[in-house]
Amino acid sequence: MYDVIIIGGGPAGLTAAIYTGRAKLKTLVLESAMPGGNAGQTDQIDNYPGFPFGINGADLMENFLKQAQRFGTELRIEEVTGIEESPGGKRVVTSQGEYLARSVIITVGARRRELEVEGEKEFLGRGVSYCATCDGAFFHNVPVAVVGGGDSAVKEALYLADIASRVYLIHRRDCFRANQTAVDKMLASDRIELKLNQVVKRIAGNGMMQNVILQDVNSGAEESLQAEGLFVSIGLVAAADFIEGLLATEDGYIVTDEHMATSVPGIFAAGDIRCKTARQVATAVGDGALAGIAVTEYLKE
Ligand SMILES: Cc1cc2nc3c(=O)[nH]c(=O)nc-3n(C[C@H](O)[C@H](O)[C@H](O)COP(=O)(O)OP(=O)(O)OC[C@H]3O[C@@H](n4cnc5c(N)ncnc54)[C@H](O)[C@@H]3O)c2cc1C
Repeated sequence: MYDVIIIGGGPAGLTAAIYTGRAKLKTLVLESAMPGGNAGQTDQIDNYPGFPFGINGADLMENFLKQAQRFGTELRIEEVTGIEESPGGKRVVTSQGEYLARSVIITVGARRRELEVEGEKEFLGRGVSYCATCDGAFFHNVPVAVVGGGDSAVKEALYLADIASRVYLIHRRDCFRANQTAVDKMLASDRIELKLNQVVKRIAGNGMMQNVILQDVNSGAEESLQAEGLFVSIGLVAAADFIEGLLATEDGYIVTDEHMATSVPGIFAAGDIRCKTARQVATAVGDGALAGIAVTEYLKE
């Protein structure tokens, strides 16, 4: 029996573990892949406070893990497939077995929605990115493209217009779902060129990405666009399929209060899997700390 099981070993989960470990709660982190989450797969993190020259995401997350383990956190590499209420507490079912805990913190993050086109995986980190705030700085004075038509795509294009030499905004329709003020600002920019009624057919290059091949949705005609970066901004997908029907969610994201409590007593959620406006390492860390404190209070009661 654990005091708390934390599902997901990214920034939110490992921060929660630091707090519950320091509170002397018996803590287990269940992680389906490599600990570190999305942050651990990011080459350079420049906007996490405390590192004036930035830090490699894997190095940062290795330190999170060491810190959590210093306070007694146990880590197991197992994918969680379900949570059930049981007379003894919460039963957490994994691909390899099951565990009992007095409380659970869900920190499984969000998956990036992918284009699923040729070259996307090959050029990931070598031109293809899913986060302009994170990776935009690597594209000073070179042409880049953004794909998407919602608020985040327009925001990414505006952000990149101050960095790149040219920004192509590729959208499969001829009108935007995004906020009109942001759209007007984008239309007024002489650095952003719209590529409407176009979809990305494939991404090409030689080691590094060099071109995006577009296809017109009406005529089928293809066009090759020279761009060294492609920012895919077609949304995120919540990563917690196993909570369906168990907790209150919106679009798959878990609804919490300001203490990270979900609709089920004893189950908390933190980080990108939560309904929230900004999905960043700093906000995941803040959520994780709050969840760790809230669980400690909950178990005292
Ligand atoms: C390419 C990229 C670059 C980024 N760059 C930056 C940046 O520079 N600065 C910044 O602040 N933010 C950046 N972000 C955002 C940042 O990485 C996230 O906001 C942050 O990692 C969220 O932390 P989290 O712990 O909530 O979730 P995640 O980091 O997604 O971690 C969730 C963990 O849960 C695990 N998991 C999922 N399902 C299960 C399951 N069923 N069972 C067990 N484990 C499971 C996953 O394997 C993962 O390790 C970037 C994101 C991406 C995708």
